[in-house]
Amino acid sequence: MTTAVVAIGGNAILRKGQTPTMENQLGNLKETCRYISAMVASGYDITLSHGNGPQVGDILLQNEAARDQVPPMPLDVCVAESQGLVGYLFQQALTEELAALCCERIVPCVLTRVLVEEHDPAFSSPTKPIGPYYSAEEARRLMGEKGWAMGEDLSRGGWRRVVPSPRPVAIIEAASISRLVHSGDDLVIAGGGGGIPVVRRNGRMEGVEAVVDKDLASACLAKCMGVEELIMLTDVDGAYLDHGTPGERLLGSVSADEAERYLEEGHFPPGSMGPKVEAGIAFVRSGGRRAVITRPELLHTALSSKAGTQIRDR
Ligand code: ADP
Ligand code: MG
Repeated sequence: MTTAVVAIGGNAILRKGQTPTMENQLGNLKETCRYISAMVASGYDITLSHGNGPQVGDILLQNEAARDQVPPMPLDVCVAESQGLVGYLFQQALTEELAALCCERIVPCVLTRVLVEEHDPAFSSPTKPIGPYYSAEEARRLMGEKGWAMGEDLSRGGWRRVVPSPRPVAIIEAASISRLVHSGDDLVIAGGGGGIPVVRRNGRMEGVEAVVDKDLASACLAKCMGVEELIMLTDVDGAYLDHGTPGERLLGSVSADEAERYLEEGHFPPGSMGPKVEAGIAFVRSGGRRAVITRPELLHTALSSKAGTQIRDR
């Protein structure tokens, strides 16, 4: 048995341009879960984490649209809701695909909090755009009424709320998740959307209006659980050097030091490939055996080191 945390990107749940109906999301998930189930059948003990960008965006939009009837919930509560929503769809899709391979597992979903540092510099410079687009006038009202930071998205011609993206320090429920995984037949879903961010304040745990990057949170979970591998599934074959140029080339097997050098040279932008490479480096440096970045269709080949980007400590 090999142990792994598998982090699944938002595109596995909802493709760009697709209507976010339940059927569309479940259909996409089934496809991804077929590859995950094959990984389980080949002898992996998996904990699954996932993104929540489009889902939490829609929850925020629902809150906004109904704000005269139902009081809007703060962001940490919306992240918690999205863990339930996506977690349940994964439970359904995985149960079905695992059964098709005669590889039944119980698939519990653990509502997961992630500890962040109250004095993380991210809190004084919010960078992560979330939720609906607003006109300049609405943006001004929200900045005044709610004290939100807002940023203009020039590509879409609207304003969006921007929130802090602090670094994960620890996964509060990591030990419980480990116990479920080690107890036998459980494939646990945890850490969705990067976890619900909380800070310790006056001896209490308080939810904060922030979002933690799901790849960095997955690396933190993998480290806290002491698993052997961190697998990040997204919509490209792996990490590329000179991505998007005619000279782009796939990064195959690299050491953490080599990957860090390319990261510093600016090959992997923040908010997309950057955090994946950073998560991979942090994971192998904290004792993980390897980190893999690839797409679900290549998972099987990547596990035998014949596809994707593989980051190892040496
Ligand atoms: P996910 O939802 O899986 O986290 P992201 O959009 O955050 O997906 O990250 C994957 C995207 O990163 C790819 O679709 C690709 O367009 C983009 N990307 C940016 N730089 C690179 C790079 N150097 N190599 C590969 N992909 C890159
Ligand atoms: Mg991402």
